[in-house]
Amino acid sequence: MFELSTDHEDFRAVVREFAAAEVEPHVAAWDRAHHFPTDLVGRMGDLGLFGLVVPDEFGGSLEASDGGAFTSLCIAIEELGYVDQSIGITLSAGVGLGINPILTYGSPGQKARFLPDLVAGRALAGFGLTEPDAGSDAGASRTRATLADGQWTLDGAKAFITNSGTDITSVVTVTARTGETATGAPEISAIMIPTGTPGFTVEAPYDKLGWHISDTHGLTFAQCRVPETNLLGERGAGFKQFLKTLDDGRIAISALALGMTRRMLDEATAYAKTRTAFGKPIGVNQGVSFPIADLAVMVENSRLVTYRAAWLKDEQEAGRRSVAEVKKAAAIAKLYTTESAVTATRIATQVFGGNGFMEEYPIARFYRDAKILEIGEGTSEVQRMVIGRHLGLPQA
Ligand SMILES: Cc1cc2nc3c(=O)[nH]c(=O)nc-3n(C[C@H](O)[C@H](O)[C@H](O)COP(=O)(O)OP(=O)(O)OC[C@H]3O[C@@H](n4cnc5c(N)ncnc54)[C@H](O)[C@@H]3O)c2cc1C
Repeated sequence: MFELSTDHEDFRAVVREFAAAEVEPHVAAWDRAHHFPTDLVGRMGDLGLFGLVVPDEFGGSLEASDGGAFTSLCIAIEELGYVDQSIGITLSAGVGLGINPILTYGSPGQKARFLPDLVAGRALAGFGLTEPDAGSDAGASRTRATLADGQWTLDGAKAFITNSGTDITSVVTVTARTGETATGAPEISAIMIPTGTPGFTVEAPYDKLGWHISDTHGLTFAQCRVPETNLLGERGAGFKQFLKTLDDGRIAISALALGMTRRMLDEATAYAKTRTAFGKPIGVNQGVSFPIADLAVMVENSRLVTYRAAWLKDEQEAGRRSVAEVKKAAAIAKLYTTESAVTATRIATQVFGGNGFMEEYPIARFYRDAKILEIGEGTSEVQRMVIGRHLGLPQA
């Protein structure tokens, strides 16, 4: 059921070649310099990577996908993530958090204004949900937006927003409290804030453990005014919209994690065959070969849960599967693949011994990049909460 089509495998080969030629030779230097490669984003756009799930009218290739568009996106993220996780997340967030909400909930005018540049890789968009005091509990958002005289006025702050401060970032969609519902709960809506809007400040980049090539900033809003028409989707539907957005994002993160685990398997296998100790390749020792065998199991399982979830998502788009099925599969995939990826980097580093601790080898970069996978787009604990809800377990 999850055998990828020949078209999918041909596409994989194209992205693999691109990543080997355009990314691999530069990543170590970019990582050291914390450099965001804007030019590369353009070339990823030329390759069509930002347009895989987008209709032709905005420059995408959805119609040519034969129903497997989301699976193609996951393949691209896996292949980029095999070479560098920051580049993989730039694509994953660019499509999943930047393009996807505008494509799904945008008005014809919003789509026409933003999508063509985003799809071409001439622009990037961010999605601002997390706040300094509202992450896992994203509904506790404190950013407020009030409507008067045809304009929204925003005050508040967002934390850790990917792709929000690059030279080509055109817009950030943020969630904000726009009132209260009839039951007294906060009414949360999504509002689009174009870059350069007065009162919208992109803070200095974070000093991060990993993902050095990826762009991440805090954002502040002080009497930031945008037209009423910048509301994305229905007023009060922001919470529902972002939960759906995150389901897709979680499958994409699984693909990123799969790329990492596959890379760890390949690196550790090659090293165990060539590195000698006590006069023999280290791989002759079961203490070395068994954990590498475990990596192979993790790759196989990660592949299955990721592409099953991606297939369900494509089937759901075609009306053959429910949103609930995708939500559960996405949480299971993200939980398993990301926890495996973190374990995989620990195993690979151990196989490499002292060399694994040196930035001269790619293992160290992957080790630093791994931990965020268990945190972003919903922590492991949040995934367990989602899975528990689907199992009908009692909720707090
Ligand atoms: C590099 C990076 C990029 C990011 N990009 C984006 C982005 O583009 N857009 C965006 O909106 N956000 C982004 N995030 C934010 C990310 O999604 C949040 O950091 C994440 O959801 C966790 O929220 P938090 O950091 O506030 O942790 P908290 O919610 O404070 O959680 C702290 C710990 O408590 C646990 N916890 C909390 N509640 C419970 C509970 N009820 N039961 C059990 N455990 C619980 C959590 O699992 C976690 O281990 C990014 C984060 C990083 C680091």
